[in-house]
Amino acid sequence: MREIDMIIIHCSASRCDRDYTFEALDNDHRSRGWNGCGYHYYVTKDGEIHMGRKEETVGAHAGKKFNPHSIGICYEGGLNARGQPEDTRTEAQKRTLTKLISSMKKRYPMAQVLGHRDLPGVHKDCPCYDVRKELSERS
Ligand SMILES: [Zn+2]
Repeated sequence: MREIDMIIIHCSASRCDRDYTFEALDNDHRSRGWNGCGYHYYVTKDGEIHMGRKEETVGAHAGKKFNPHSIGICYEGGLNARGQPEDTRTEAQKRTLTKLISSMKKRYPMAQVLGHRDLPGVHKDCPCYDVRKELSERS
């Protein structure tokens, strides 16, 4: 078993008014030379969970330093209709993410849950919302 100490949340950086299906994501990651979808879970706008990599498999989502000991969860969106970074999560996505994160917390009690941008050295907006703030307000 891998030692998991981080659950890292991402957005797909796709526009909220366009569909970016799991198949499209999987293809894009393959074209980068990866072994398919780099995330473990992908949550589309309808709130559906799509299984990417198996949890035992190292993902490709947060760099060599963090991939080996983390799980990557990505939601579809993160850019508004003008292509600017924004929290575009639908209510269905928020519900699914809440459930998925709480099941991860049960299975990996020692893991911290954070956004991609909260990692040191990351200079992007992903996932376009404050993961830790939202979690602390909910509990
Ligand atoms: Zn990211």
